[in-house]
Amino acid sequence: MDSQITVTVLCYHSISTQTTPTFANLTVEPSVFAEQMAALREQDLEVLAFRDVPEALATGRRAVAITIDDGLADAGENACTVLAQLGMTATLFVPSGYIGAHSAWLRGPDGRRPMLTSETIASLARDAFEIGSHGQSHLAADLNSPEVVECDARASRQELEDCIGGVVESFAYPFGYHSPAARRAVRAAGYLQACAVGELPARTGDDRWALPRVQVHNDTTPEELVAMATTSTPLTGRAWARSKQRVWSLGRRYAGWGPPEAGRIGGARR
Ligand SMILES: [Zn+2]
Repeated sequence: MDSQITVTVLCYHSISTQTTPTFANLTVEPSVFAEQMAALREQDLEVLAFRDVPEALATGRRAVAITIDDGLADAGENACTVLAQLGMTATLFVPSGYIGAHSAWLRGPDGRRPMLTSETIASLARDAFEIGSHGQSHLAADLNSPEVVECDARASRQELEDCIGGVVESFAYPFGYHSPAARRAVRAAGYLQACAVGELPARTGDDRWALPRVQVHNDTTPEELVAMATTSTPLTGRAWARSKQRVWSLGRRYAGWGPPEAGRIGGARR
């Protein structure tokens, strides 16, 4: 076990029996999710909200955090119910401009997924789930100007704070992408920490405004999930994942390809 790695931040999107070919990689069936969470619960691991990850890293505590992106209604119905039954918390990253409507930043059938309502979001916050921001319009933070990113992030924080009547301090970059300027913009918008993707556990010394997360899939077995949360990734794997992220980003800009969500970017481009 690598003592430097202390917190694995898991990343989910849709928890549903319904999906599409383009969203299948981001969808976990509710029964699978329940098995994954039950296996995690059996471990002697602290389960944190994402806002508590920086402190856990600073104090060297091994822990796991569960995050769910996109604010889809199925997260409330199929994930939070299970988590509450197991006494586990999670952070839901909500794109505030789509609350109570549909996932209209996606294209085709994916754009008709129902979103969490403001009432449900407020109720989840009261039940000790952390509500974080996924931007207002689900903009790609690295492809828009820092001014646009900051304005969008600030508006989203205000809308979510009005919704829950509490503080919103965590941000998840839509599509996982960020840049130094985007990280500064999110910080200027009042957030205290942010997460990206990266397929790596978070380590002491990682950038607080770009903490890596590990994507969980429908075919991730409970045993694999426990291993992801409790064992280290070799440095070579870490370096490989970083280079992969760079290649994805370059490829997306110049050839229009990338990870599952990347082909459906909305909003202005630089
Ligand atoms: Zn998203």
